[in-house]
Amino acid sequence: MTAIVVHGGAGAITLDRHDRLRAGVRAAAEAGDAILAAGGSALDAVVAAVRVLEDDPEFNAGHGSVLTRDGTVETDASVMDGAQRFGAVAAVPDLGCAVALARAVLESGEHVLLAGPAAWRFAEEVGIRPAPPGSLVTERSRRRLAESKGTVGAVARDGEGRFASATSTGGISGKRSGRVGDSPIAGAGTWADHAMAASATGDGEAIIRVALTHAIAMRLAAGSSLREAASIALDDLRRTTGGNAGVIAIDRGGIVGLQLSPAMPVASIVREGAEITRVDHMGDRLS
Ligand code: ASP
Repeated sequence: MTAIVVHGGAGAITLDRHDRLRAGVRAAAEAGDAILAAGGSALDAVVAAVRVLEDDPEFNAGHGSVLTRDGTVETDASVMDGAQRFGAVAAVPDLGCAVALARAVLESGEHVLLAGPAAWRFAEEVGIRPAPPGSLVTERSRRRLAESKGTVGAVARDGEGRFASATSTGGISGKRSGRVGDSPIAGAGTWADHAMAASATGDGEAIIRVALTHAIAMRLAAGSSLREAASIALDDLRRTTGGNAGVIAIDRGGIVGLQLSPAMPVASIVREGAEITRVDHMGDRLS
């Protein structure tokens, strides 16, 4: 069995954008699934899926990221695999492929998180170049339509039963330069271990305060089902912080996509033998 789930961010999304966002997450899930179907790793699959959405200006990651209050783009991203290897980058200016740089941090094994403009020195070493200044800024971001844009993420399980998670974002619109959200923080925006993987979206400060994806993993380890674990953790976040969030997660038994916000585009592709199940929708809202 292999499976991949992709999300395009929790938020209030106007009806006219539903089809475009569903098509975006579907294309990302297809990219990840192609890798899993060819026997590739869960880690390669989640990175490939997230790269598709970083290049899609409809989503708040890479090209099309929301802007800082200085009018610039600074991106955050992380990747984690079931062996609890982790790599992340935070608040890196003009970085269009943040998930690829996060992956390079993971592979290098020296550090887990590189932040700010100095991360470009490492990027250069691994052959990643900055986008031309201003080229990641879209008209939509300039108009600050942040309420309709969301972080992106993917979780997967490969044919060998390994899990991985990846998350990438421009953060929140109008943030201070240098602000770091949940997406590059292990256990907040991204988590994977031997039993599950999860990727979160929503109010980064709230997600960090409750260590959302780690909370789900711990509840699962204590015997909850994946859906129970995700819904209790989201409910805890709402009660503790008053914030908003959404999450996708996968374990040996299945997948879940759940959010507190009105919508969160989600696509999944599950292969069980010859049977392939493809689903895309605007997510399940936790009441
Ligand atoms: N969680 C992201 C952040 O706070 C934003 C989002 O999910 O839309 O950086």
